[in-house]
Parts: sequence; structure tokens; C-alpha cells
Amino acid sequence: MQLIDTHAHLNYKAFNKDRSEVIQRCIDNNVQVLNASSQLSTSQQAVEIARAHPGQMFASVGFHPIHLDKKDYSIEDYQELITNNPEQIVAVGEIGLDYYHLESDNIDELKKRQKENFLTQLNLAQDNKLPTIIHCRDAYEDTLDILEGFSSKQEGVMHCYLGGRDIARRLISLGFYLGFTGIITFTNDEELLSVIKEVPLAKILIETDSPYLAPQPVRGKRNEPVYVKHVAEKIAQIKNTSIEEVAVTTSENARQLFRLNF
Ligand SMILES: [Zn+2]
Ligand SMILES: [Zn+2]
Repeated sequence: MQLIDTHAHLNYKAFNKDRSEVIQRCIDNNVQVLNASSQLSTSQQAVEIARAHPGQMFASVGFHPIHLDKKDYSIEDYQELITNNPEQIVAVGEIGLDYYHLESDNIDELKKRQKENFLTQLNLAQDNKLPTIIHCRDAYEDTLDILEGFSSKQEGVMHCYLGGRDIARRLISLGFYLGFTGIITFTNDEELLSVIKEVPLAKILIETDSPYLAPQPVRGKRNEPVYVKHVAEKIAQIKNTSIEEVAVTTSENARQLFRLNF
């Protein structure tokens, strides 16, 4: 059974000590991985990992909104990375809006900068014909406003989806997939569970967000991509189908969205 973890961070320092063992477990368990990035250094690292493991590891490059208050970045650096690594880079992300961490004294200014940077990177993705990986926390309405204003037809995934039915419908009608993490294995959010039940499997991706968000039964540990099977299992249970069906369909979805050749 093949599974594709469409959102992990093996490029982060949580994996510095045993990265090769973690990747070997992915290979042994037939789990392909898309490593998403948060700034230029982790983007470069994701590309290196993909280069060393063709057909097994893939990279997404981008500048995460939570870094905007402390750092700046140059879009040219990202363009250069994309131009030089067309085989490894399959998406732009994580990009989007995160209002959860905003400090109270400069909220309006930071929101404005997050929106501007989100748009700049949506354009980067469009210029390079790449799908997007959207990060959104406490900001679904503003995120949807920007996406709906940007283009009526887009390719991408709303990763770690935790929203309700209406937002899900709007995202799918724009062309987005919904990515679900280990949170769904322990949440009490009935509306979220009903979204999983109602959304067609053809619009669902599975992910771990490793090293974060470890699912039941490994909750509290460092997460890693092989645990994506627990997310697949939970979706199968909610949708009253087999884990094989979830594996086959979500893998096909990922191959289609990110144009993976294997
Ligand atoms: Zn995220
Ligand atoms: Zn992430």
C-alpha cells in the first residue's frame, strides 16, 4: 500500500540527528513525502532532500506568514531556486495568513504585510505554473477573500484543514483540495468530522505536518511521515470505506495536483 504524505517538514532541525533513518522508514513503508518550507533556508534544505531521493521526496518552497514580523525575504531568491530545480520543486508553500500569533500592538500592519506577501507568492506560483500549499490559522475569511479575488480557477491545497462546511465548499469550487492531519484522529469538532464525511475523497489529501501534530496512537511524540497511515485509517473509518481505497485515491490526488512522476 502506497501513501503520500503531502505535507511534512523533514527539512526542519527536529530531524537533524536521524534524518536518514526517518527517510529510510518512509522508503521501507512505501510513503512518499512532500516537504513544505517556511523560509529560504528550509526551502533550500527541502530541495536538497528531494535531490538526494528522486521519486521519494519532493519539495515545496515558500515564505511562511509567521516569519514576517522578524524577517524579510526576496522573491528573486525563490524564483532562482524554482528555475534551478524544476525536478525537485512541485509547489509553492506554505504561504497564506496566520493571525494566531499576532502581537497586539501592530496587528493591522502585520495583517497588511501578510496579505501583500501572500499575493506576491500566489503570483510566483502562477508565473511558474505551480500549485500552492496554503497555510491558514484564524484567518479563513481573509484567506478566501484573497483567493477568490486572485483567480476563479486555481490549483492547490488548504493544508491542515480545520474549517467548516461553507469554507470547504468555497475552496473546492475554486479548485482546492483539503489536506487533513493527525488532528482528525483526536478532535471533538463535530463539524470538522462532518466535512470529512461529506467532501468527496477525490478532493482530499492526507498529511502529517511532521514533526508536529502526531496522531493517535502516537500523540505527544515527534511526528514522522509513516504515521500518515493513522490519518488514512481515520478517514476510512469516517467515510465507511477501506484504508486501501483512501490510500489509492489520495495518492492519485497528490500525483495529479503536484504532477508527480513515479
Ligand atoms: Zn501550516
Ligand atoms: Zn507545516
